[in-house]
Amino acid sequence: MKTNYWVVDNVDNQVGSIEEAARLLKDGQVVAFPTETVYGLGADATSDEAVRKIYEAKGRPSDNPLIVHIAEKNQLQVIVSEIPEYVEKLMDAFWPGPLTFILPKREGLSTIVTAGLQTVAVRMPNHPVALSLIQKAQLPIAAPSANLSGKPSPTLAKHVMEDLNGRIAGIVDGGMTGVGVESTVLDCTGDTPMILRPGGISKEELEEMVGTVLVDPNLVDEKEKPKSPGMKYTHYAPDAPLSIVDGSPEFMQKVIEQFRLEGKRVGVLTTEENQSFYEADHVIVCGNRKDLKTVATHLYDALRSFNEQSLDVLVSESFPNAGVGQAIMNRLLKAAGHRVIKE
Ligand code: AMP
Ligand code: MG
Repeated sequence: MKTNYWVVDNVDNQVGSIEEAARLLKDGQVVAFPTETVYGLGADATSDEAVRKIYEAKGRPSDNPLIVHIAEKNQLQVIVSEIPEYVEKLMDAFWPGPLTFILPKREGLSTIVTAGLQTVAVRMPNHPVALSLIQKAQLPIAAPSANLSGKPSPTLAKHVMEDLNGRIAGIVDGGMTGVGVESTVLDCTGDTPMILRPGGISKEELEEMVGTVLVDPNLVDEKEKPKSPGMKYTHYAPDAPLSIVDGSPEFMQKVIEQFRLEGKRVGVLTTEENQSFYEADHVIVCGNRKDLKTVATHLYDALRSFNEQSLDVLVSESFPNAGVGQAIMNRLLKAAGHRVIKE
């Protein structure tokens, strides 16, 4: 399949490209587009046939439901059957933005989008290209991250090309995404909301608006069964095995040296503050610790770029488990298959 490619750096100046992409979506095709979190792989959420193409292109397990993306609140009417008051409050505070609500679903959506569940995931992305595309398509758009299943999510159009060129109808290149990690998934089917996946909006930010917010026990103890189907799958993994080092930079350098003594080529993921501590075969600086948002922004590109070097093992620093740090550690631990080397 030929994959169309449009560069859209200004929505108002490139309406024609957005319209072409929207036409493909209306036509039941699959198109990748930027959101503020990561690139999404979109299709008509009301069409089984269109949604099936997303699963096929990604190689995504069919029991892992998709997030439905909307551009206006009135689109909710065809997607969800009820909205608790606390959800209205959170929508007003954080939409458009990186917050996904799990709510009781309405009939009429593709059952493949929800993987047969009675609930649906929905969010309004905060990106001019995504919003304009959804508006022009006049459809709710199902969109998981636009990567092959298991790979790090794409934060640049070139990442989408690497994984999906020839497998999808088009890619809208809107430059680098901003947040860099996916949306927070919040189960709102009970009286108290529960985070199923940490993401762009932190627990602290949510609690400021609505008081207590629960956390899926699986996020604290990996032996618990996750409530979100997608959280049980391996994700974000670079080609070489990754370990997270929980300790000082001095300790991490010892770990690196040990690997090198074994004849291994070692890649390191670090931050601006700590880069000078490390001597390894390839060092990637991923943001700075003073502002963890910068780490989130660059994380997936860092994980992907290790694959361009021939490395045998990778080690990463760990990050504080607060604010966006919760999402960063969740992704890193998954990428590492939960391998942690403690000081
Ligand atoms: P992605 O589309 O890759 O960003 O992943 C979406 C995440 O939301 C996955 O972890 C899904 O399992 C989760 N999700 C989507 N719909 C539901 C739902 N109805 N109930 C629980 N989790 C969901
Ligand atoms: Mg994904």
